[in-house]
Amino acid sequence: MRVNENLVDCLVKEVMNSLEDRLEKEEQAGGDGVFKDVNEAVAAAKKAQEELFRMTLSDRKRITDAIRQDMDAYVEELSRRTVEETGMGRLEDKIQKNRVALKQTPGIEDLPSYVYTGDRGLTLLELSPFGVIGSITPSTNPTETVFCNAIGMICAGNSVVFSPHPGAYKVTNYTVELINKAIVKAGGPKNLVVTLNEPSLEKSNTLMAHPDIRMLVATGGPAIVKTVLSSGKKAIGAGAGNPPALVDQTANIEKAVKDIVAGCSFDNNLPCTSEKEAIVVDEVFEYFVFNMKHHPETYFLEDPAKIEALKELVVKEGKPNKAFTGKDASYILGKIGIEADKKIKLISCVTDFDHPFVQLELLMPILPIVRAENRESALNLALKAEHGNRHTATCHSRDIEFLSKAAKEMQTTIFVKNAPSFAGLGIGGEGYTTFTIAGPTGEGLTSTKSFCRHRRCSLVDGFNIR
Ligand code: NAD
Repeated sequence: MRVNENLVDCLVKEVMNSLEDRLEKEEQAGGDGVFKDVNEAVAAAKKAQEELFRMTLSDRKRITDAIRQDMDAYVEELSRRTVEETGMGRLEDKIQKNRVALKQTPGIEDLPSYVYTGDRGLTLLELSPFGVIGSITPSTNPTETVFCNAIGMICAGNSVVFSPHPGAYKVTNYTVELINKAIVKAGGPKNLVVTLNEPSLEKSNTLMAHPDIRMLVATGGPAIVKTVLSSGKKAIGAGAGNPPALVDQTANIEKAVKDIVAGCSFDNNLPCTSEKEAIVVDEVFEYFVFNMKHHPETYFLEDPAKIEALKELVVKEGKPNKAFTGKDASYILGKIGIEADKKIKLISCVTDFDHPFVQLELLMPILPIVRAENRESALNLALKAEHGNRHTATCHSRDIEFLSKAAKEMQTTIFVKNAPSFAGLGIGGEGYTTFTIAGPTGEGLTSTKSFCRHRRCSLVDGFNIR
């Protein structure tokens, strides 16, 4: 039989065109939760939330358990894609952060109910969903933030529209697609978690102003926190930090150095909770520096010209030079003419308190060490370096009274004693995790109950059985 080649060509073209059309339509309509249009994204999330609201608490648990389970297989791939897309961070640390986010984010158990009974009957107070939440995510922990937010927000009964960081939107949106598949497979509504393709400031602003968005959650720097807090809507702001590591004369110095290096170099210092400067009392200063110099993962800069060259490189017009955010220490050292082994994870040096390495939230594996006359002045400097963010601080001391005093006076959301900062996120410390730490608005380490409204229901003159 002879085949008419022209006819075959035509048929192939037609099939290809209709496939492309379908894909385009599916993308517009949010094939797996990824939408070009903000209004369509919000409408789809609203419909999904209405379905979720009619489901049970056990359904919410089943859906979020499916996210935890199914996403586990993608943790390595997502971590690798994040490093590739953003050019920031360390693969092994991102894997750890993602695993912790899936395992240790609280679920429906974090929804307490309260009951009041008396002569006039029974009143109950329950935590209820807001509806559709708009969540703006960072480039520094893109997938971890989506995991924590999605699990907590769904357990609270909400749906969520993510506005991803333009520098991490591909991996953020891929994560959302995978989460949607897991939800639908577990019998949950389609588009419970959606995201915006080709993100832009304009799209985030449209999202924030959308009347069907009942709550905003911003995880990022000061600009976005300020923006959501000015929105006129219920907002959670999880902003910047500049965590000091305070070391006093009673500390186990060898351990303090190890802990501070581990915390400060974790994911190349991208976590907002990571140690950004060490403030060490005079009495143990030299021994602290000696240990830092001999730490196998630290490159200690002594030459003032090299410290100046590093400053010229990583600080631009008084601000951190974003080209070096989250880069490997060996890469940064290479740029100032120092060839360092790949095992080097941290650059350290002694500076004055006023130095930009101390004052700026660099988000780079660089640790300045500042000398303090005594521990009262060390605490004072730590307070100043934290800039009132009330975010995170660590303290190394064996004097319980000083630890308590420092914890009280720092007023940070997270205060870690004698351990790396990440212990405060539940990594090597007790407690649950989150990657949305709300200092400015006071929710602290956000969890399911943070995404709820308090509602009261009173039954008068009934059900009091005393
Ligand atoms: P970023 O502030 O550059 O971006 C965060 C998000 O906000 C992005 O999606 C961005 O597109 C958006 N955005 C920024 N300004 C905006 C505006 N005016 N209007 C609308 N959208 C806007 O943050 P980043 O560089 O990705 O993350 C690093 C910063 O975030 C650091 O300061 C870090 O401390 C902080 N952070 C805080 C937490 C926390 O839990 N507190 C967690 C992660 C990161």
